[in-house]
Amino acid sequence: MSIFGNSIFGNKATGIAGGAPASDASEAEQQNSGDQKSDAQWREELTPEEYHVLRQAGTERPYTGEYWDTHTEGVYQCRACGAELFTSTEKFDSHCGWPSFWAPLAEGNVRYIHDRTLGMDRIEVRCASCDSHLGHVFEGEGYGTPTDQRYCINSVSLRLVAKETPSQP
Ligand SMILES: [Zn+2]
Repeated sequence: MSIFGNSIFGNKATGIAGGAPASDASEAEQQNSGDQKSDAQWREELTPEEYHVLRQAGTERPYTGEYWDTHTEGVYQCRACGAELFTSTEKFDSHCGWPSFWAPLAEGNVRYIHDRTLGMDRIEVRCASCDSHLGHVFEGEGYGTPTDQRYCINSVSLRLVAKETPSQP
């Protein structure tokens, strides 16, 4: 609870000065547009590391993430909203220290933003559903993949749902 809202001093300004407090209304409208969560909600739902990467465009340290060397078959979901983003089929060994994919599960599942921070010229990759930061995509590095693109994605932005192995009779 805000100390400025229901303070012990009461609200003496009611209806005298006019000037309705517009900020509350517009904030509420923004939160209700689509399924976007407020910053406070994200902070509550995510771990500090997840929040830092997903919502503040942070980067996990290379070779420390959960999936950089994972070969398990399955689908990689957005850690924040559960949208399906990548699959093990497009994952390849880039040896860069982060999970790398040569394509997303489908164009439209991710969105791209031109990122010129840190003195670099990069393409940021975000979840199209919840706008969380995933990583960056690089092109023309010479990896022998079908697209010659490398979606360099933070493990902490993803959650691997392993494919169920069909039970053999
Ligand atoms: Zn998402």
